[in-house]
Amino acid sequence: MILKPRIESPELLILRCLSPRKQLVEKDHHYYENLEKGFEGEKKFDELLETFTEDWLFLNGLLLEHNNSLFQIDTLGISQEGLYLFDVKYYEGDMSIDGELWKYSNGTVLKNPLHQLQRCESLLSRFLQDKGLHFPIKAYLVFNHPHFTLYGAPRNPTIILPTQLQYFMKKLKSVKSVLNSSHKKLADMILTANLPSYPNAYIPKYEYSDLTRGIICSSCGSFLKSKSHFGKLTCQHCLHVEQLDSAALRSLREFQILFPERKVTTNALFDWCSPILSKRQVQKVLSENFERKGHGKYSYYV
Ligand SMILES: [Zn+2]
Repeated sequence: MILKPRIESPELLILRCLSPRKQLVEKDHHYYENLEKGFEGEKKFDELLETFTEDWLFLNGLLLEHNNSLFQIDTLGISQEGLYLFDVKYYEGDMSIDGELWKYSNGTVLKNPLHQLQRCESLLSRFLQDKGLHFPIKAYLVFNHPHFTLYGAPRNPTIILPTQLQYFMKKLKSVKSVLNSSHKKLADMILTANLPSYPNAYIPKYEYSDLTRGIICSSCGSFLKSKSHFGKLTCQHCLHVEQLDSAALRSLREFQILFPERKVTTNALFDWCSPILSKRQVQKVLSENFERKGHGKYSYYV
């Protein structure tokens, strides 16, 4: 069972809200696309974990620290046999291995993912030893994009290629595993040690005035053009229909992700959603979903 589901990192959430509202420079756009793609690949991997029984515990998306070194774990599986560390790579297209060098199809060398995996495994092992815990660890590098080919792939059981993945998971599932309280304690300890995000994660600079305001269609991502009709908003681009309240709350969530320090007021949300919602509609949505604090023009919602 999945004990800790995967959630988006704060930087991915911010970039996801920012990208339709601001023209990102190429480097930032590329960075955003990579985060989005990595997350998509990890979620695809999680779907395979959902079919495991309670004899396995999975913790997804961990960020741990040992001796001032941070290490990220895409998925940690806890079974009777020990710990399974999975690094998920959602690369698409062709890649090749030439000795120790890993190369994209255009010849560019990338960081050897096996070295990253070894670093992670070693830090996890020392992290546990530090706490007096000794569990055997098996580490795997999983490539799960269906359109990925690795030329010159060595016969290395650590590397799981897309064509091997289904069989590998089937085999793993058939391993007998009975968990006891020490496994649950281990999971709790790791969850307590888990950090919310990289302290120095890169986020491009942005200001409220730089951003396009309005409501974005939840289906196609374009800005809505017309006002509500009988409490519903229709996207002129893809004809998707959404309840006004749901669209307003979704937009408010984006506002809060991008500007967590700003108070939620009628004027703030009215401006953020302009020109789609009227002030009266904004006020209604806020008063129905939040608690009002303060009076008159100083009032805000929590
Ligand atoms: Zn649309």
